[in-house]
Amino acid sequence: MKTTGTRSLILILLTVAFAAGMLLFLADYARDGGSWAIQAFNKHITLGQNLSGRVLDRNDTVVAYSDETGRVYHDDRSVRLGLLHVVGDTRGYIATSVQNLYRAELSGYNLVTGLVSPFGETNGSDVKLTLDANACKTAYEALGGKKGAVIVYNYTTGEILCEVSAPGFDPGAPPDDLDTDETGKYEGVYLNNVLSSTYTPGSTFKVVTAAAAIEAIPDLDSRTFTCTGSTVINGNQINCTGVHGQMDFKTALANSCNVAFGELAVELGEEKMTALAEQLGFNKSFSFDGVTTAKSSYRAAGASEDELAWSGIGQYTDLANPMHMAILMSAVANGGTPVMPRFVDSVTTSFGLVTQAGTPAQGEKMLSATTAARLKTYLRYNVTNAYGDGMFPSGMQVCAKTGTAEVGEGKEPTGWIIGFCSNTETPYAFAAAVEEGSSGIGSAGAVASAVLSALAS
Ligand SMILES: [Zn+2]
Repeated sequence: MKTTGTRSLILILLTVAFAAGMLLFLADYARDGGSWAIQAFNKHITLGQNLSGRVLDRNDTVVAYSDETGRVYHDDRSVRLGLLHVVGDTRGYIATSVQNLYRAELSGYNLVTGLVSPFGETNGSDVKLTLDANACKTAYEALGGKKGAVIVYNYTTGEILCEVSAPGFDPGAPPDDLDTDETGKYEGVYLNNVLSSTYTPGSTFKVVTAAAAIEAIPDLDSRTFTCTGSTVINGNQINCTGVHGQMDFKTALANSCNVAFGELAVELGEEKMTALAEQLGFNKSFSFDGVTTAKSSYRAAGASEDELAWSGIGQYTDLANPMHMAILMSAVANGGTPVMPRFVDSVTTSFGLVTQAGTPAQGEKMLSATTAARLKTYLRYNVTNAYGDGMFPSGMQVCAKTGTAEVGEGKEPTGWIIGFCSNTETPYAFAAAVEEGSSGIGSAGAVASAVLSALAS
């Protein structure tokens, strides 16, 4: 009897332990089942069969879907490459892409039936993007094989219309040497440069120095600046791009005069420059729709006077993230407070239920309304007097600043443009950076112009 009692007790204990284990498992399953089901080691999903939902652009053009062969992308190669970093690849290697971030929705996982319904059909939701496939194609082609980043978004609704990063690869036919190449041609190919990269901003940073000058120098507009082609600060020569002579402030900005802006940064000092740069979003990141941007960087603490001068010209250790620069332009366009960007318009289940819909969201205030208004006037003067209004589609009334950022290492400069349309019929804020692009206006300016033209048609 004694032996039987002990055995019964052991059995009871084992049963209790088993039941407790099952409960723990079921709790984990209910909580984490969705993420287990869509892990990369589930090869049937990474091959795309269960990523059954479609991805559509803002005009309902299907840019990715699944059939019996697996994941299928748009039939135009430039559209596939232009949308690569937002739509994503089939393996989910582009971390900030929709096919990675919205994998659960696209695969249609649910707790009861898992990934496949009892009728053998897949349940993936459709994800509709705010992007315009044709504008992305245009931007990709305008980059002409150069590395870089292009972002255009509606500064009143936040809808991203064009977001293109290069280099890329064709997700419909990934090259065989994509992961084995050692020449560097695919370096950074899984990174979305718009969100995840920073570049030396060059003269586009003069917008920040200009904002600091507007706020700190009451008689700024009645001042005269003098450029003889160079100036010596702290024993170091700061060269200008030309000999600009005497000019007022808005002309100094339109001339992108290094002498005027270098001297202004020194006059303003490290504290005011840093405070304004941080108020405008430097040294912080921005998050929306599940992605977070790389931080733009302004570090003038401990800089010598000549280094401080270069920091106000957008060189020294300055770095800028393209998405952040577009958000900054949205702030100027909106009277000081940006509308934040977003790229998911809606998520709709296979039976037509909209489970997520994007709405406009304001960011933190960056500028006072008066500073924003003055910057807008100067940036508009820039386009009409320095670049020519004919560079952009007629009637858009573009306000912009270009940059030609020296990057050293024997490389050609990074070409930049940041700006927005002041015509509220076409409320687009934009930024483009082109590596080894030579002049800002000739490379990034031409790309922005091409995309704005595509959006105008
Ligand atoms: Zn000058």
